[in-house]
Amino acid sequence: MNAEIIAVGSELLLGQIANTNAQFISRHLAEVGVNVYFHTVVGDNPDRLKEAVRLAEQRADLLIFTGGLGPTKDDLTKEVLASCAGKELVYDQAALESIKSYFLKTNRVMTENNKKQALIIKDSVVLANNHGMAPGMFLKSEHAYYMLLPGPPKEMQPMFVEYGKPLLLQIQDKVERIESRVLRFFGIGESVLETKIEDLLQNQSNPTIAPLAGDGEVTLRVTAKHESEQEAYRLIKKTEEEILQRVGQFFYGYDQTTIIAEVAGLLMQHNKTIAAAESLTGGLFQSELTSVPDASSIYKGGLVCYSNESKEQFVRVRKQTIEKFGAVSEECAMELAENIRELFDTDFGISFTGVAGPNELEGKMPGTVWVGLAEKDKQTKAYLLELAGSRSGIRKRSVQYGCHYLLNEMKSRKIEMF
Ligand code: ATP
Repeated sequence: MNAEIIAVGSELLLGQIANTNAQFISRHLAEVGVNVYFHTVVGDNPDRLKEAVRLAEQRADLLIFTGGLGPTKDDLTKEVLASCAGKELVYDQAALESIKSYFLKTNRVMTENNKKQALIIKDSVVLANNHGMAPGMFLKSEHAYYMLLPGPPKEMQPMFVEYGKPLLLQIQDKVERIESRVLRFFGIGESVLETKIEDLLQNQSNPTIAPLAGDGEVTLRVTAKHESEQEAYRLIKKTEEEILQRVGQFFYGYDQTTIIAEVAGLLMQHNKTIAAAESLTGGLFQSELTSVPDASSIYKGGLVCYSNESKEQFVRVRKQTIEKFGAVSEECAMELAENIRELFDTDFGISFTGVAGPNELEGKMPGTVWVGLAEKDKQTKAYLLELAGSRSGIRKRSVQYGCHYLLNEMKSRKIEMF
């Protein structure tokens, strides 16, 4: 079954609100095996709504409408759809009672136009509105199924989940579930990643693989369809294994996770602690780390040492190091990481020193960043980054790379840590 979601409301076209209803419904339709091919937005205009319906009927079996069920003049969805389906509007007694009791409950006076909300398209199944007044409707017209839902998300969402979805399961002979999982990668560009899995991308059918780049990382959404949820996940797992065999060293997590959350998770899992000395990132790493719940079990503290003096005075970087190599140097990054680890007596120490731009520093280009990584009883390392982009992009990317190195470091010694 293919669906088109039609959001009705001029405020959507004016950019006053975002069409989150379509996003919500699409996500839920995947669970009941309904494909969504189009999202349409149309203003409160009967002719244009009719036009949208006619077009949607040519390309979808199910049309889901949100908005325009209210009592005011510009709420015209059901009037237009009744006319499209060649049906009249009739009062629904149960809906009328429910509206009356809603007014009683909320201590408000019911005006005449509110009765309009109890009008339903004849022969439709009424979807009760337990969080507002306008009931939803489900009916079959000559060309397609129509589902009408109210605009406010707090009314629409429970109505769709409680009553809409079960109806969609009833009208389908065979329900193919659509399951998907997002694989997240860092430290590899989109084009390199795509080249490495080019054959998988070209031969994909079920599951499908959709790459997406953004915010310094690349994601692959692997989507499988099957009647059985278990089988859909088995298909996803198989494709995932093939992908990870090729680019596994850049993979850091699934779905909604972030690289900092993965770092925190791994530190927690292994009872390890960390401290940070930050120059160009100005505390960004520590701010992100402490946004993870329970960060106190792994994060002991750190310092923002922006000036050379503060690096020397508080993190005890040797004067000669800065004089000889500069603050943006491998040597300085290593001393910062080692000393901060010792100062806070943690398992790991991480440091960030570099040029955020737009101007050069110490004759070094913007985007030149050193990340230092110290670990108790281990050789300290420093990584050079040559980043491009804005000042905030460089600072953000530095933190992401720091997390990436830390993750790789921990993963490479998995056996020891277990
Ligand atoms: P009401 O009885 O409140 O008038 P309605 O079904 O007539 O409900 P609309 O008047 O179209 O719905 O929209 C009411 C409110 O619902 C909007 O002001 C907006 O806040 C929210 N809304 C409407 N459509 C959407 C949408 N597609 N996505 C997110 N929010 C929406």
